[in-house]
Amino acid sequence: MTRPEDQEVKEERGYKMKLEKIDGKGKKLKFIAEDTNPAMMNALRRTTMNYIPVLAIENVGIIENSSPVFDEIIAQRLGQVPLVFDPDKFNMHEDCECEEGCSNCEVKFTLKGEGPGILYSGELNCKSGDVEVLYDRIPITEMDENQEVDLEATACLSIGKDHSKHQASVSSYQYYPIIDVDNDELTVEEKKSCQEICPRNVFELDGDKLNIENEERCTLCKECVEEVDSGVVVTGDEEKFIFKIESICSLDPEYIISKAAEVLEEKADKVVEKLS
Ligand code: SF4
Ligand SMILES: [Zn+2]
Repeated sequence: MTRPEDQEVKEERGYKMKLEKIDGKGKKLKFIAEDTNPAMMNALRRTTMNYIPVLAIENVGIIENSSPVFDEIIAQRLGQVPLVFDPDKFNMHEDCECEEGCSNCEVKFTLKGEGPGILYSGELNCKSGDVEVLYDRIPITEMDENQEVDLEATACLSIGKDHSKHQASVSSYQYYPIIDVDNDELTVEEKKSCQEICPRNVFELDGDKLNIENEERCTLCKECVEEVDSGVVVTGDEEKFIFKIESICSLDPEYIISKAAEVLEEKADKVVEKLS
């Protein structure tokens, strides 16, 4: 997290992007970023998706598997199970002082079950550390009578760039819409069809006046522009953006954004260091 004194240093160095949260519920967050550019937005998008360390099951040792699902598929399914973890408590393997894995960079699980029945993610039993599954009803395999599964698994931190099971979020951005409506140039029919054709209900018709009600919902599809000869112009602001992020792991989107800013800053510092 950025401390107030760090913020002052950043502002002195020229980081002046303004952020305003416009929507955010649970795993989703939408905000406006101002005084920035597409390169910075794209860097933020890529970092939130590909460079935030996320814990996921990496190695699976099968002791017994007489279920109909192959060992490899069980291991693959376990890798996709989102885990609830404290990101400050774990190191990436390459940053850990140990050589062969320790409790600071790995978490051990066991999973055991007997048929008949379905073996769910919630039956993963964490043997070290304080880690749980985010969703406990993810089916891992189904077992018939006399079938069983017994395995050990190890989770570690890694990033989405290395494997999609470590991907933290799905993120996107768009130019902030600038919508110009000249009511004097539009016929009543054109105003009506603009309102009807807009898939995001951006316009509202007040008598014979076409008003812009939900500018932020506009996706710049330009359907409205194609409905009229002139009188509606839609463009994107090149210094203002709408950024959307949905966390697909246990981390909050706010944490992912703030961590992404840290990662970008570290990368920029490394470039400066190499060039100096
Ligand atoms: S560009 Fe598309 S989304 Fe935006 S106001 Fe026009 S029709 Fe609606
Ligand atoms: Zn270690």
